[in-house]
Amino acid sequence: MTNHLAGILGIGDTARHARPFARIEDGRSLSYGDVEAQSARFAAALVGLGVRPGDRVAVQVEKSIEALMLYLGCIRAGGVFLPLNTAYTPAELGYFIGDAEPALVVCDPARAAALRPHAQTAGSRLETMGVWAAGGGDHGSIFAHLPEGAAFSDVARGPEDLAAILYTSGTTGQSKGAMLSHENLGSNAAVLAEHWRFTTEDVLIHALPIYHTHGLFVATNTTLVAGSSLLFMQKFDTGAVLTAMGEATALMGVPTFYTRLLGEAGLTPERCRGMRLFVAGSAPLLAETHRQWETRTGHAILERYGMTECSMITSNPYDGARRAGTVGHPLPGVSLKVTHEETGADMARGEIGMIRVKGPNVFRGYWRMPEKTAEELSSDGWFITGDLGMIDDEGYVVIVGRGKDLIISGGFNVYPKEVEGEIDRLPGIVESAVIGVPHPDFGEGVVAVVVPEAEARREQNRVLEPLCERLAKFKQPKRVVFVDALPRNAMGKVQKKDLREAYADLFQPAL
Ligand code: AMP
Repeated sequence: MTNHLAGILGIGDTARHARPFARIEDGRSLSYGDVEAQSARFAAALVGLGVRPGDRVAVQVEKSIEALMLYLGCIRAGGVFLPLNTAYTPAELGYFIGDAEPALVVCDPARAAALRPHAQTAGSRLETMGVWAAGGGDHGSIFAHLPEGAAFSDVARGPEDLAAILYTSGTTGQSKGAMLSHENLGSNAAVLAEHWRFTTEDVLIHALPIYHTHGLFVATNTTLVAGSSLLFMQKFDTGAVLTAMGEATALMGVPTFYTRLLGEAGLTPERCRGMRLFVAGSAPLLAETHRQWETRTGHAILERYGMTECSMITSNPYDGARRAGTVGHPLPGVSLKVTHEETGADMARGEIGMIRVKGPNVFRGYWRMPEKTAEELSSDGWFITGDLGMIDDEGYVVIVGRGKDLIISGGFNVYPKEVEGEIDRLPGIVESAVIGVPHPDFGEGVVAVVVPEAEARREQNRVLEPLCERLAKFKQPKRVVFVDALPRNAMGKVQKKDLREAYADLFQPAL
């Protein structure tokens, strides 16, 4: 048996060793031969540090090419890679480390003192990894364990073996560790490389974080499968991305990348001349952003839909129409259906229901949570995504909102996305988030949190009046709150939980 995922990612393919893999902002570059050698050294280091097949390696480090090599080394060593958002506090990390019981924790040197007690409690070894800097600095203790030679014989792992655990964003409730197998990651990478036509000619701008499925698996694994190369950036910076577009062919981003780039005068058709593909996902792309992008650049953004538990699920077509406000069709090999929330029965086209997904991309369950797993993943392989959506008459999937964002006001269901769509199209509005908060009469009252354009006057009636004609009374916001910006997490997802907390007392009678 070979190492399933390493094989799909092309590890061991000596024919491509001379080809470029990454150019890094700090001026360094890596060939595919370097990827092979560096990931082998990390794999050997992990084995030397006691990582056995199936052991978790928890990693909270700043983005760096070395961290990517650590990921590949972990796969090659048969370990289970467990990346952690750099925003998590030591207290939050205590939960993850205690829950995952990793053999090894790798963290930023600045975090070592705070994390050591948690690692000790879980029986984990702790090493540090900083960001390489010309001229030195604390680069981290793990580097002392890298052997000189680059020979490593990959640990055999089959399709069903775990490759990674990713804790879901945890924007509601307790974070759960989604267990992803070699097959989950491998099948998705192979499908995406083909569906989005990645080849050895492609140069992808990589400005996403690598603790999340988007930057770690979608961007990196797809590149590796296709033998493409990366322009590897520490973080997203509009100026740097615009410059990079002159040498790149593709960009993968969260919607905020696109809205921010639209704010730059330098975004022109000439700038995008060498670009062939702009992909967006991880949060809804406003239809307006899609249209503006096409007007400004001549390119239709390709929106896709995915989640930690399933990697990528649907994608707009490469060749056919990329329809604004939709996430396209299920990827080859992936099945998707829209079902009644209670009965699970299939809904008709155009009707809103719970999205369920089945396929080689669907995860193996939540780490040490068999009950949670059973609630969401049925024995016949269908996963309840928690997203509400519908399939339109041309077979395109439309996401209407998260199930838990659904508002029930006076017994009626209100889908926030629908109300947001109506508000966003009003003049003088940048965007909006519609939430439900406790209401003495209605159970929940609909509240619109609205970001107006700078010069627009902030009058609640200017938002509410036009909605009267367009939305049923029960869907109309009972209150409009104006804000300068919506709270978002690192992936650009609006944090509705924060908004619900902030406005929880809006309808409560004053004491
Ligand atoms: P995460 O597990 O952090 O990747 O979050 C997954 C969730 O992001 C999905 O369940 C959706 O609610 C949302 N999401 C991802 N892509 C899209 C998209 N293109 N449009 C709307 N929501 C999306």
